[in-house]
Amino acid sequence: MDMTVIPSTRTGLPTEPFIGRHFINGAWRDSADGATFERIAPSHGVVVSRSARGGEAEAEAAIKAARAAFDSGVWSRISGKARGEVLLRVADLIAANVDRFALIETLETGKPITQARNEISGAADLWRYAAALARTTKGDSHNTLGEDILGVVIKEPIGVVSVITPWNFPFWILSQKLPFALAAGCTCVVKPSEMTPSTTAMLGELLNEAGLPAGVVNIVLGYGQPVGATMAAHRLVDMVTFTGSTAVGKAISAAASGTLKKVALELGGKNPQVIFPDADLESAADAVVFGVYFNAGECCNSGSRIIVHEDIAEAFTARVIELSRQVAFGDPLDPRTQVGAIVTPQHQDKIDGYVRAAVAAGARLGLGGERLSVPGLNGDFYQPTVVTGVTPDMAIAREEVFGPVLSVLTFRTMDDAIAITNDAAYGLSAGVWSENVHTVLEFSRRAQAGTVWSNTWMDGFPELTFGGVKESGQGREIGSYGLEEFLEVKSLVMRIGRTRAPWVNAR
Ligand code: NAD
Repeated sequence: MDMTVIPSTRTGLPTEPFIGRHFINGAWRDSADGATFERIAPSHGVVVSRSARGGEAEAEAAIKAARAAFDSGVWSRISGKARGEVLLRVADLIAANVDRFALIETLETGKPITQARNEISGAADLWRYAAALARTTKGDSHNTLGEDILGVVIKEPIGVVSVITPWNFPFWILSQKLPFALAAGCTCVVKPSEMTPSTTAMLGELLNEAGLPAGVVNIVLGYGQPVGATMAAHRLVDMVTFTGSTAVGKAISAAASGTLKKVALELGGKNPQVIFPDADLESAADAVVFGVYFNAGECCNSGSRIIVHEDIAEAFTARVIELSRQVAFGDPLDPRTQVGAIVTPQHQDKIDGYVRAAVAAGARLGLGGERLSVPGLNGDFYQPTVVTGVTPDMAIAREEVFGPVLSVLTFRTMDDAIAITNDAAYGLSAGVWSENVHTVLEFSRRAQAGTVWSNTWMDGFPELTFGGVKESGQGREIGSYGLEEFLEVKSLVMRIGRTRAPWVNAR
């Protein structure tokens, strides 16, 4: 058996596309000019959704609705308890709709149905966690400033937040941002990726049902231009939170600078797993395979490069290749499938281009390196691919491939491993495998990354904050820091008694 491929029987497809509309000020709307766009399933080639295509008019209306809702206090000035209760109702509704959401998410992204179900139900837990945080927001008091002064630092919602999300984890990433912004008391305008608009639109139904006041969350479907760009630059918006590519993140930062609004960015990664010879190599090999093929490698956290000690590199790579052949690629609607389709044909070409360029530069193909044919489907699939003999200067070692492609590099000393790890524009996450606590701690402290996993990969919890350094982004999501992003800090300075010495005629 060369590779494990799950064929398709083409069962389980919806009979009609999902129709998506904008959700503005509590009402469902088509675009003023009637424009729409379609999403074709990358796996099955069917139309999954037909959505209203927003323009400047819709973005403007959504921003104004969010501004008015914020300023009215209907959400921003109610108690944390009251906000938390709504968020908990949303969480219950998400949990009750897992299958419906997961089916559309699978068809729009190409990801496996089992994974999509886990992501939707996991997202419900993010809403629950944010609901708990809604009641814990607090500031500081300063009782040491002298007997006639009391200082209090309070936290306030930052205001209107633009939320712009990518296609790879549409509902999960939305849920890393939106419930936290809402817990803080902000109001929001949300734009999902044009590739995956539907589950975000479907959330609008649940927000309504949960009793969220009109205008608190507004959803505009459409493209980066003009919808996202308007949301990034608009003077009535106080903050933009964005997940996506580094190039667009930089454009958003530039657009936001006109009004100096706050910007939080979760961008790309080129995340290494470093394997020391004393590691539990069987666990490490399994985690490497998981790290590179999960979500077909279309993952900011993809463990797309491994840095293996020279003494074990050959045997370890052989084991990774052996395990790679056993990963089930194929029809995303089959519950046995572990890796589904690539998001678009253009993206498939980009992945293939990185592999070809690496081979042309002297790297070798240990496995894969071609489009994958799945019986019963003529969609976009790519083989599990392992590229060996990669050197740190090659594009495949430095840039985000965003596909099921592993680059294998080697090292000799801890200093080498750290140098290769940190020799990247990105700094999202990194991993270290060793049974020696000193090795693990030294690597963890010296690696430039927002998250360092040791003897595991991609374990995550709502409690643990997430984000990147360098060109992987700025700001943090989830955990208590995820709430702090959406809060502004204000100092209240209070004089007690008529003790202030006059400034005029002080002598
Ligand atoms: P993308 O940057 O192309 O698009 C992301 C979103 O930005 C989409 O909604 C898009 O419509 C919008 N957009 C595009 N141009 C815009 C503009 N000029 N102004 C405002 N909005 C605009 O990213 P993508 O291809 O959807 O997602 C893949 C990228 O996302 C990868 O680079 C990946 O690493 C990154 N990502 C990062 C994380 C993280 O947490 N660090 C998580 C997931 C994905």
